[in-house]
Amino acid sequence: MKELEEKIRQFETVLPGNVLKVDAFLNHQVDPVLMQHIGQEFAARFKDAKITKVWTVESSGIAPAVMTGLALGVPVIFARKHKSLTLNSGMYTADVYSYTKKTTNRISISKRYVDKTDRVLLIDDFLANGQAVEGMLQIADQAGVEVVGAGIVIEKCFQPGSAELAAKGVRVESLAKVSSLADGQVSFKQTEGED
Ligand code: 5GP
Repeated sequence: MKELEEKIRQFETVLPGNVLKVDAFLNHQVDPVLMQHIGQEFAARFKDAKITKVWTVESSGIAPAVMTGLALGVPVIFARKHKSLTLNSGMYTADVYSYTKKTTNRISISKRYVDKTDRVLLIDDFLANGQAVEGMLQIADQAGVEVVGAGIVIEKCFQPGSAELAAKGVRVESLAKVSSLADGQVSFKQTEGED
């Protein structure tokens, strides 16, 4: 998605540890027009998937997920993160290691908002090692719902997440594919169907 790549270039900042900083438009200040276009793009790519819910993880996935839910006309659930290990019988839970924060959070989704018949699209801001998406897949397994795929705003192709999801047969649609962040420079992999 050209518009997204241009935005990444405009604010190009790479932090130590191969972390791309996107807080100018995605995970602190949010560009609503870009988010709307991101939501429309995910909706178009998954238009035949009969999606009934969009899931994401708080907080950075919420903006693109809500816009995707708006474009598809379906509700959005964001899994909540807890430091505490408290068990709650009303929740589906999974443990997720955060690549950027180097901590493990328990994520949870209330059973109240899950139907056995749901067809779920997972959305996240980044795909790096695949932990966040893996956590949502575990919750989907517990809930017995079908995952139609994962919509990723920025995929870091040089990290193992996308290959691991492909090996599991998960359809992954990424709007920007970053092939390298070496020397503080962003390189994009050419995406299929790009105009
Ligand atoms: P994964 O679970 O795939 O290892 O990483 C996904 C999560 O880590 C994302 O939800 C995102 O919050 C964070 N993350 C991973 N890589 C980056 C990055 O390069 N920049 C930023 N800002 N967040 C990242």
